[in-house]
Amino acid sequence: MLAVVKEGPGPGFALREVPVPQPPPGWVRVRVRAVGICGTDIPIFEGIRKVPYPLIPGHEFAGEIDALGEGVQAWHVGERVAVGLVIGCGTCAACRRGEENLCPHITEIGIHINGAFAEYVLAPEKTLHRLPDHLSFADGASVDPVASSYRGIRRLNLQPQDDVAIFGLGPIGLYALQAVRAHGVRRVIAITPRRGLRAEIALRTGADAVIESAQAQDLVSAVREANHGAMPSVVIEATGKPEVFHDVFRVAAPGARVLLLGIFHEHAQFDPAQIIRKELRVEGSFCYTWDDFEASLDLIARDLVRTAPVITHTLPLAHMAEALRLIHQREAVKVILEP
Ligand SMILES: [Zn+2]
Ligand SMILES: [Zn+2]
Repeated sequence: MLAVVKEGPGPGFALREVPVPQPPPGWVRVRVRAVGICGTDIPIFEGIRKVPYPLIPGHEFAGEIDALGEGVQAWHVGERVAVGLVIGCGTCAACRRGEENLCPHITEIGIHINGAFAEYVLAPEKTLHRLPDHLSFADGASVDPVASSYRGIRRLNLQPQDDVAIFGLGPIGLYALQAVRAHGVRRVIAITPRRGLRAEIALRTGADAVIESAQAQDLVSAVREANHGAMPSVVIEATGKPEVFHDVFRVAAPGARVLLLGIFHEHAQFDPAQIIRKELRVEGSFCYTWDDFEASLDLIARDLVRTAPVITHTLPLAHMAEALRLIHQREAVKVILEP
């Protein structure tokens, strides 16, 4: 089968033929129909994030079950599935209370073991979710980034009176925006360095205003003005950029909840006095559980979160280099590849 292989620690990848894998007991083989390129895949390709080599990356995927390992009874060949990347050990305290994302022995498909930038991928049956008939494989491949946003958002306990500011309009920020909107909050303000495609998508998918942080003289005043004189009661950080961190706490209203969704690859500095003096409640959120994934699939199935505005490009798997160029030059938001 054709696969995108990360061969070693240097930058780049190889596009080559590899053997079709056989599913072990309790696992299935999935014929990949759609796989998204994630922000996490970029540092893997660049060699910044180390993975066991050689590795086939790719963890945002959906397809059809193609073969069953021994003992698999709840699934059959030909079934359409979306697949979560988290494989917990199943026996630690975190796994036993259903928080396998916090498992100290976590295995992630496409990061620790071979993933879906290939024609076929293996997955344990406990990571499978049935993809409803009316959803596309691209929808199925988008559940992962939706769930990565939605895990934190569920814990914010959003109210109709909440005003929400979101930093960052990549796929995670844009899906957070729609998931927040689905809760019927009062106002959503999106903050991005400069206007462009992402800001347009934000306005089309429910943002009341977009603030260009690179243009704003004073970001706090700009946010207050866009929010009819009040500071937001909820702030979501979805950039993962250390330079943004400081502003996240500054724009929050006293007593606000702050959700950190962006993954920081560099050290970030901030003033803890902002958290103390305003009594901010700061929530971290990492990846998702089986239940977050199922809830996110339901949001997409009910059209409360739409993937079409966020998916800007669909390309064949062999066009990986072109896809990475589009992302690097910020021409694309979410790219879906079809093996
Ligand atoms: Zn992802
Ligand atoms: Zn565990």
